[in-house]
Amino acid sequence: MQDKLMLMIPGPTPVAESTLLALAKAPIGHRTKEFSAIFADVVTKLKWLHQTTNDVLILSASGTGAMEAGIINFLSKGDRVLVGDNGKFGERWAEVCEAYGLQTERIRAEWGQPLDPEAFRAALEADTAKTIAAVIVTHSETSAGVLNDLATINRSVKAHGRALMMVDAVTSLGATNVPVDEWGLDVVASGSQKAYAIPPGLGFVAVSAKAWEAYKTADLPRYYLDLGKYREDAAKDTTPFTPAVNLIVALQAALAQMQQEGLDNIFARHRRQRNATRAAMKALGLGLLAADTHASDAITAVVPPAGLDAEQIRKALQQKFDIAMAGGQDHLKGKIFRMGHLGFVCDRDVLTAIAALEATLQSLGWTFPAGAGVTAAIGHLNA
Ligand SMILES: *Cc1c(COP(=O)(O)O)cnc(C)c1O
Repeated sequence: MQDKLMLMIPGPTPVAESTLLALAKAPIGHRTKEFSAIFADVVTKLKWLHQTTNDVLILSASGTGAMEAGIINFLSKGDRVLVGDNGKFGERWAEVCEAYGLQTERIRAEWGQPLDPEAFRAALEADTAKTIAAVIVTHSETSAGVLNDLATINRSVKAHGRALMMVDAVTSLGATNVPVDEWGLDVVASGSQKAYAIPPGLGFVAVSAKAWEAYKTADLPRYYLDLGKYREDAAKDTTPFTPAVNLIVALQAALAQMQQEGLDNIFARHRRQRNATRAAMKALGLGLLAADTHASDAITAVVPPAGLDAEQIRKALQQKFDIAMAGGQDHLKGKIFRMGHLGFVCDRDVLTAIAALEATLQSLGWTFPAGAGVTAAIGHLNA
């Protein structure tokens, strides 16, 4: 049905009506007082979301641009970096590091398994010469639905002393607690089409004082993504280049809505919906790629049993119910589907998606106790 699409993918995520109305406004000049006032308010709200007093810089870029900016502004040619790689995004950050000539060491885990904090501890403790300049971790690895143990890895980074902690928080910030200042995270990247619940196009980077120290001597090439320029201009409530004006206006509305809900409620909602989704999948006899102990709050990766095709399930959900879920990437293509519960998603959306999934599975000949998924989900949503 037209205009009924329900996005249950890990980005772009659904956008609230108040945000859509903000998006409908005509653009204004970015060198105006009016825009500067909006910009200043947005930055204040971003700091609230990040639980930080550090700079949070706004880029016209997707999450990858924000992450690339975070990597290249604080490192120098030949620097040694440890990159956690247990999925598509971890793999990507290692590739970015290599593209810039960094000495890149991957700490790997299978897709679906969490990164082993012990491996980071061992590598950092062995580095008595302090050659490791940064540790890069994807907090919520979207490709596999895994939440990595950032807090524990970060403790080893702090004990090391030199290395900067750089975090892909694209599907954790605004869904899972990421206390940037309390943990002393140096670089935290995110993107607008995820928990922020506005369309794609903005990237965000939070930067610590320690990272700015490294910036002074960092020598990787940069121009458009030179964060020093953004910082300098942000102090004057402006940006070095034309920002995505309309998206920033929309962001103000979206962040206001998030503030109204409150951080604790936002985190609790994501956790509740995650638990409901996982319980439903289990009750329907479907497998889960990530274990309960390290499951992402934003996305659930589901493994259909032999005989059920993940792509067929997705296709039927789309065709019959206008519900979009994500497929598997790379070697998991066709083997899993991924249900997003990220951003502007309410319990009703989760119930709807589970009920539609039940109908789909039934039509594909899969047998299970009728209503088992919905019943299991309700158990968590009502708890
Ligand atoms: C979506 C996402 C990104 C950013 O991807 P873009 O397509 O560049 O916005 C980065 N990391 C994770 C974990 C993501 O889910």
